[in-house]
Amino acid sequence: MADVAVAIIGAGVVGAAVAQRLAARRLPCVVLEAASRPGGEITARNSGVVHAGLYDPPGSLKARLCVAGARALYGWAARAGVPCARVGKLVVAADERETEALGALLANGRAAGAAGLSLLSSRELSALEPGLRGHAALYSEGTGIVDAPALAASLAADARDHGAEVLLAARVEALERAAGGWRLLTPRGELRAEAVVNAAGLHADEVAALAGVRRYRVHPCRGDWFRIRGRAPVRRLVYPVRAKGAAGLGVHLTLDLAGGCRLGPDAVYVSRKDDYEPAPEGKRAEFAAAARRLLPGIREDDLAYDTCGLRPKLRAPGEPGERDFVIAEDLPGLVNLVGIESPGLTAALAIAGEVERLLS
Ligand SMILES: Cc1cc2nc3c(=O)[nH]c(=O)nc-3n(C[C@H](O)[C@H](O)[C@H](O)COP(=O)(O)OP(=O)(O)OC[C@H]3O[C@@H](n4cnc5c(N)ncnc54)[C@H](O)[C@@H]3O)c2cc1C
Repeated sequence: MADVAVAIIGAGVVGAAVAQRLAARRLPCVVLEAASRPGGEITARNSGVVHAGLYDPPGSLKARLCVAGARALYGWAARAGVPCARVGKLVVAADERETEALGALLANGRAAGAAGLSLLSSRELSALEPGLRGHAALYSEGTGIVDAPALAASLAADARDHGAEVLLAARVEALERAAGGWRLLTPRGELRAEAVVNAAGLHADEVAALAGVRRYRVHPCRGDWFRIRGRAPVRRLVYPVRAKGAAGLGVHLTLDLAGGCRLGPDAVYVSRKDDYEPAPEGKRAEFAAAARRLLPGIREDDLAYDTCGLRPKLRAPGEPGERDFVIAEDLPGLVNLVGIESPGLTAALAIAGEVERLLS
């Protein structure tokens, strides 16, 4: 006899969204979280942007779940009182060639289902954001920002209200088939579950391997942020045009809900999944130069180091293109969520819907 219907491994925003969704449908769930505090890994270290769905290929899981997830996230945040604001986003082209790329981005976003997109001339851009310099811009009025840890906490709290249990300091160390489901071993004891959802973020490949699924490899790809001192120089999120094949969106300006402004993240593959040391001092000049392409007035002294995060990339270093999210029932009753990098925060509630469909 199983102890619970579903064991969810990982209490980041994705595990919390899955637990909320399943618990609200009266499925007895347990969330097993390795850390002594939930949501301390990727969910605590990201840009907090609610993406509109501009970048990923139409029809991909990333594109589809980003668009559906953003809608669900805004609705959830309004109902649950999670801090969130639709501040809008500008992708700024520096020259004629990048302006052509903006047209392609607009077409991709529209085909992917992103709403509220328009192209702005250089004059319209300056009228909207006087501090910015650009040849043209793509404006996404639906892009926003959210307090990611608060979102994860509200989802976990709702799951608990519907009877789910969240066990901390419960790293899953063994995962094996058992009669009627799965047996999981943690330092807090053994648990039997009819189904398992692996939402272990950076460690999802290792958790899948515990069950014998060895086809995944998560490559940590680090991004650093610098904070711009003083008042934010813009009122919207500001991005450069993404370089073809780049592993990130290019160093950009994001706002936080407290009115601050950050620059970043860049994208650098690293060897460790716990590489959170502050960036070397030289990075500041690099970031100031990238910022000056958008905001000519920025000086190196305006920047103070903030923090970093690690993307759980399935795309290996040197591989030419991005990979899609993996949401797969690889063995009966074992759903692996692997490569849930950006826009995974935006997509979390829609990912939970996919998991529910797979398990029903
Ligand atoms: C630099 C950066 C910027 C980003 N910006 C954005 C953005 O602006 N918008 C957006 O939509 N997305 C963004 N993302 C992506 C988004 O943050 C992630 O997709 C999302 O937070 C992933 O959540 P998660 O729950 O899968 O992972 P996590 O939050 O890492 O949660 C996984 C949990 O599993 C636990 N765990 C691991 N192994 C085990 C085990 N064996 N047993 C039990 N528990 C275990 C971990 O402790 C962790 O708490 C960004 C990501 C990065 C790195």
